[in-house]
Amino acid sequence: MEVHDVELVMSAVDPKQYPTTGDPEIALVGRSNVGKSSLTNVLINRNSYAHTSSQPGKTQTLNFYHVESQMYFVDVPGYGYAKASRTDREKWGQMIETYLTQREQLRGVVSLVDGRHEPTKDDQQMYTWLAYYDIPTLVVATKLDKISRGKWNKQLSMIKKTLQLKPEDALLPFSAQTKMGKDAVWDWIETQAFG
Ligand code: GDP
Repeated sequence: MEVHDVELVMSAVDPKQYPTTGDPEIALVGRSNVGKSSLTNVLINRNSYAHTSSQPGKTQTLNFYHVESQMYFVDVPGYGYAKASRTDREKWGQMIETYLTQREQLRGVVSLVDGRHEPTKDDQQMYTWLAYYDIPTLVVATKLDKISRGKWNKQLSMIKKTLQLKPEDALLPFSAQTKMGKDAVWDWIETQAFG
């Protein structure tokens, strides 16, 4: 999708605050600092719309971005922030569980992992959870410009294996720096959102 128009319409903690237009939604999840804001900005052709995190784990709301008045990106606050209190973690867990399991408009989840490393326990837990609820998921391996091209395949296989990726879910390489993977990620999103 060629994006010209994006509007942050809603920062929601409670289902009563979710948008009511009925447009399809794609959620973006990942641990803090994985490159979620950077990916979002590449997808929507902005340099700094979704703000890159100076305070990881700080935003504890679901942010709904209305894209071309056709669909929403739902930015889910990053998980695995070491300094978050237990109460905050529990609140976070409840908020995203409610959204991901009950939202009718949700068409799929883009789950980001750092392409340079083995997925963390949190990454594994998140994917296992999405798989359990049968939520269509695209795993995106970020920051691939930081490893040499010759190592990509090995790295992607390792990620697939560690997450025990289901055959119906996809894994794509991505770099916000070079924009590599942008079209493929958009293809997946559009297929999920509009069929
Ligand atoms: P978020 O916390 O998940 O939203 O992560 P950000 O998008 O703020 O990115 C965290 C840090 O990683 C920032 O310093 C980004 O510039 C950097 N970063 C994100 N994506 C990439 C990428 O594809 N390549 C490189 N080299 N750095 C990236």
